[in-house]
Amino acid sequence: MLRRTHECDRCGADIAPGDEYAAVDGIAPDGEIRVLLCAACAVDFSRFLDGA
Ligand SMILES: [Zn+2]
Repeated sequence: MLRRTHECDRCGADIAPGDEYAAVDGIAPDGEIRVLLCAACAVDFSRFLDGA
C-alpha cells in the first residue's frame, strides 16, 4: 500500500494511495530497478511479458 501519491513510471499518471498499481522489481544492466505502474500500464506490461 502506498502512503503517498506516486507517479506511474511509464505514463506519469498519479497513483494515489488506495489506487490499484503494480510494483515491479527487476535487474537491469545498470543495476536493480524498481518501478511503479498504474493499473492501465500494468495491464500492458502483463501483455508484454506474455509476448503479445
Ligand atoms: Zn501508467
